[in-house]
Amino acid sequence: MIKAEAREYVLTERKCIDFQLLSKQVIKKIVEENILWNKEKIGLYYPLKWEINLLDLLNIYPHKKFYFPAIHYKMEFKIFDSLTSFIPGPFHTMQPMTETVDINDIDLIFIPCLATSKTKQRLGYGKGYYDRALESYQGVKIGICPSVFQNLDVEMEHHDIVLDFIIKE
Ligand code: ADP
Ligand code: MG
Repeated sequence: MIKAEAREYVLTERKCIDFQLLSKQVIKKIVEENILWNKEKIGLYYPLKWEINLLDLLNIYPHKKFYFPAIHYKMEFKIFDSLTSFIPGPFHTMQPMTETVDINDIDLIFIPCLATSKTKQRLGYGKGYYDRALESYQGVKIGICPSVFQNLDVEMEHHDIVLDFIIKE
């Protein structure tokens, strides 16, 4: 299928998913598999209503440094200080107002995906923010997406970022 069909399919089907349960399962997996053991600087994201919520990682790993995306025309990553200081950004998300860092200072980034393809590429909402921001990113890219939307037979494009791992709940 083409990207637009895949987006329509996921946007409908994901409303039947228990994201609270899924979020717990994915966090458990990250902790049990010790995915962050040699990673100090972690890119996270503020979840939308129908996305897997990994914010508990902030409490589980209090000694690591976290970074969140913020959109100012383009997507940048900013230092995490406190969730209470986040302000509303575009697309119903929340973003920090702290300083922007060089993306290649971040060791590993968790990336929310609508779906992932058989080629391990990310399908997003259709704005391409992550594709542009991570175009020359050298660190580890971890896709976060319900297992049922992983490995879809969707035609991706050359600019779509390839994920290193995609976590299954
Ligand atoms: P998403 O990744 O959010 O699913 P798309 O991959 O369809 O969305 O990209 C949306 C738009 O962003 C497309 O028009 C695409 O050409 C543009 N785009 C994506 N990556 C780049 C890039 N690295 N450089 C320039 N334009 C890009
Ligand atoms: Mg893309």
